[in-house]
Amino acid sequence: MSPDKIKSVSEPTLRRLPSYLHLLKRLDQQGRGIVSCTYISKDLKLDPTQVRKDLAATGIVGKPKIGYDVNNLIRSIESFLDWNNQTDAFLAGVGNLGRALMGYERFKDYGLNIVGVFDSDHEKIGTTVADRKILPIAKLPELARRMHINIGIITAPAEAAQIIADLMIEGGIIAIWNFAPTSIKVPDNVIVEKAHLYTSLAVLSHKLAEALANERSPEDEKGIANKLE
Ligand code: NAD
Repeated sequence: MSPDKIKSVSEPTLRRLPSYLHLLKRLDQQGRGIVSCTYISKDLKLDPTQVRKDLAATGIVGKPKIGYDVNNLIRSIESFLDWNNQTDAFLAGVGNLGRALMGYERFKDYGLNIVGVFDSDHEKIGTTVADRKILPIAKLPELARRMHINIGIITAPAEAAQIIADLMIEGGIIAIWNFAPTSIKVPDNVIVEKAHLYTSLAVLSHKLAEALANERSPEDEKGIANKLE
């Protein structure tokens, strides 16, 4: 995407755009040609004004009382997120999580193409994962420079995260997707996005506990109290 096409939008908008895309692709598969803002907002449980604003940020405006052309909207969001141009990435740490990410072929649909995998374990180096040969981590900086890699994914233990981040930065990587449960220090020109399933699991567990507590009848509470006596 050319720099003049890159518009600055809020992070919450950026985070919502993939859900719109997911819904629109489903509607497209169902043969639906037009969709209204109300439909999108109801399906995704969002405020319609917010949805309209988010979609307008990608450069598309719906027709009043008609809605949006589903295909045009998909193209507009994909082009805005630059998902039409696949971005090559390197991944470091090929354990359970690294293997799972490598096995997820549809990252390509989201513009991410993992072209190099690295590990420090001599038993893993030289073996393959998802048709990619695992390379020694020490080779990462040189290869990243040579291949002009912009994105690095860290799926190694927390203790190794900073060492790996430093190697990525040495290799000219400017965007790091960090799955390790630790913060990493990077220069100002490097973007770090933490990916933590635990945070959303914490929200889920808390909401579940609240829902279960609200569902408990007074008889249940009496039963629990009797059992505890
Ligand atoms: P794992 O032990 O199965 O795999 C870690 C891999 O990293 C191993 O192959 C190991 O050899 C490699 N490694 C260690 N030091 C390295 C280094 N210096 N350079 C390159 N590779 C190195 O662990 P896992 O279960 O796959 O978890 C990986 C990381 O992801 C951990 O930090 C874990 O806490 C984290 N994790 C995060 C989430 C999340 O939601 N963010 C979810 C699961 C796991």
